[in-house]
This record gives sequence, structure tokens and C-alpha cells, in this order.
Amino acid sequence: MNGYCQDRRESSSLTFISKLPIVHSKLPHIKETIFTTMSRIAAEAGAINLSQGFPGFAPDPRLTDLIAHFTQNGNNQYAPMMGILELREALVQKTLNCYGVATDAEKEWTIVSGATQAIFSAVTAVVSPGDEVIVLEPAFDSYDPAILLNGAVPIHVPLDERDFSPDWNKIEAAITAKTKLIIVNTPHNPSGYVWTQSDMDQLARLVDKFGLYVVSDEVYEHILFDGREHLSLLLHPVLRSRTFVCGSFGKTFHITGWKIGYCVAVPELTIEFRKIHQYVTFTTVRPAQHALAVYLQEESTYLGLSEFYQRKRDLFLEGLSKTQFEFEPTQGSFFQQVRYGHLSEMGDKELAILLTQKLKVACIPVSSFYADGRDHKILRFCFAKEEEELIEATRRLERISDLFG
Ligand code: GLN
Repeated sequence: MNGYCQDRRESSSLTFISKLPIVHSKLPHIKETIFTTMSRIAAEAGAINLSQGFPGFAPDPRLTDLIAHFTQNGNNQYAPMMGILELREALVQKTLNCYGVATDAEKEWTIVSGATQAIFSAVTAVVSPGDEVIVLEPAFDSYDPAILLNGAVPIHVPLDERDFSPDWNKIEAAITAKTKLIIVNTPHNPSGYVWTQSDMDQLARLVDKFGLYVVSDEVYEHILFDGREHLSLLLHPVLRSRTFVCGSFGKTFHITGWKIGYCVAVPELTIEFRKIHQYVTFTTVRPAQHALAVYLQEESTYLGLSEFYQRKRDLFLEGLSKTQFEFEPTQGSFFQQVRYGHLSEMGDKELAILLTQKLKVACIPVSSFYADGRDHKILRFCFAKEEEELIEATRRLERISDLFG
């Protein structure tokens, strides 16, 4: 066929094109993300969508007023490549308030189009073809493609099956001479596990011993429960010098659609990070940066978030306690995992779809967070929703055993 697909041309409506090329996919095993799939099935079924993680309520009107103000008064052309200085300075102040860590607005902060882009750019900055990258599973689905597109190899190490803490012996055993980077995430999506001081110390020991880089996904840094505190990797001197800390305004201010986040790292790493960033998006939406720079001046805008979400988590757990699911209260993030293996052998994907279509509540099957699709019979629910929705969802979930016939 000379590298062209005749059949596809004939069956497609693009008959005016004489020859369509066969595309040799760079990501042959990657399909549509489970978040897109489940949100679509939820919409088709008219279900309450507790699958894809996004807030079901509006952001603070002060923030939407600010972005309107800044678009109506100029600020509609390119921002500087690394983001406007006022926003980077506001982040320096916030990092000092939250973690007592001094950072440099000029040399260490880059504003980007969301944490997924930050992670992609950070991985690309340090990983070369043939390198190995440690990924702790279950893992958010953007990590592997970022590694693969750089010609590197993801090495998957499972988190503890019961509480999803990192197993440091297994992690050390997976490190080879080719290991360049480890990607970590606290609070963890999907399990909600929150790193302890001992986790940080163990990571620092390995980073030091093997000279690794770290990408730290900290997008849920302001959502922790039962008095827990977020331990940013910025807090540890060894990790501070080797880590790209990636964060998101979307999760903190209920603006996932604004697609704006950041990366903070020491100047040596930031220089390389910016080389990538400037050719991925060049820069990030300007009026949003001005709005956030002003909004961040008030600490209460981010310090009250744990309390805000704890009310929702507790309400959701109260409802879940009337169902047959088994669960441990999530420690952080806006996700709650539940187990159903004691009720049925059904695969988690099949159950997630059935639940969406029959009980009209959508969730995410956690097997999607494993490269080999391993199924521990766990579902993930997002509780970043209005209270009435959470109450109604758990009321519907009381009928879970109907699905097992
Ligand atoms: N972070 C969100 C989640 O875990 C989804 C983001 C996305 O849809 N890619 O649900």
C-alpha cells in the first residue's frame, strides 16, 4: 500500500483526498483518558458526575470580577514567558506563609497552563531517551505519556495495597543505573494518601544516594483533612535542590477551566524548565495571571480550603456509611476511594459504567491508574460537589447490591 491506507480513504468521507497516510502512533497503547470517557457516559446517562475531578460550584465572584476587570482594561496580549512578576511575587509570599520557605520570584517560579503542562515540561527538561523514571502506582494518567514521548521508560512501583503509602524498599529495589527521575504526588490522586515526614526523609535519602531528580505533583496542597499538614518537597533541603514542584490554581480556587498552574524549582532546574515551556505554550493566559496576583493577596482565599472540603468529605462519608462499600476516610484531595471486592467479582470498569447507567452516579475505576490495568476492585468518587448532589448520590449508592443480581 506504499504507506497509504486505501481502505480508510474509501470508507471515509474525505474522498477528495487521494491518499491518507498511515500514522505510526507514538503512543499506541494510549486511548482517550478515563476522565473524558466517564464524563461522557455520565452526561449520556444524565448521571450525577462524581468521576472527573472538578468542582461542581462556581469560583468566588471576586475572582471572576477580577478577570473581567483585567480583560476590560488591557492585559489581553502576551504575558512574559515565565509569567507576570506580580503573580510570581505573590507565590513567593504564599510559600513563605505556608511553608516558611524562601523562593526567588525572578529565577525559580514559572507560570504555566496547568499542572499537567508543568509535569510534562519538567519531565522533558531532565529525561533523555533510554532513561528510566519511577512512577508510583496507582498514578495520574499524564505521567506515563510524558515519559514515553521523551523516549524514556516508566518503571511502575506499586504503593502499599492497603493504605497507598510508598513502599521504600520496593522503590529502592527498582532503581538502576538508568534511573533519572521519580514522580511523586501528595496528597495523592486517587487514594488521598498524605506523605509523612518519614516518606520525605526516605525520598531524600534515595535522591541523595542515586542522584535522582524529582517531579512533585502537589496540586491538592491545600486540601488535607483531620488536622493534617501538607509537607511540600520544598521543605526538605536535599529535595529542594533536585525537585520540580508542580501546582495548580484550578484545584485551589475552583477554576480548573482556566488551566493555570506553576512550577517552582531551583534556578539550575528552572533554566531548563523554561527552555521547554517557551516552546510548549510560550506563555500563559494573561488576564488570569493579573486576577490571581490580586486575589492571592488575601490568605483566607486558600487557607480555608481544607475546612471547606472537610465538610463535604464528612457529609459524603456519612452517606457512604449507609452503603455496602468499604472505605477509609480520605486524608487529602477531593477524592474518596471505596472497595467492593467483598460484594462482587465484577471488574471495576464494568461496575463504574453500570453504576453510571443504572444508579446514575458516575465514578472512576481505579484500575485505570495502573499501566497493566490491575483491578483491586476500587472505585474513586469526587466529592467537590454541592451538598444536595452528594446526599442524593450516596442515597442512590445504597442500592449498589441491585447491580450484582
Ligand atoms: N485531575 C482530574 C482527575 O483526577 C482530571 C483531569 C483530567 O480530566 N485530565 O479527575
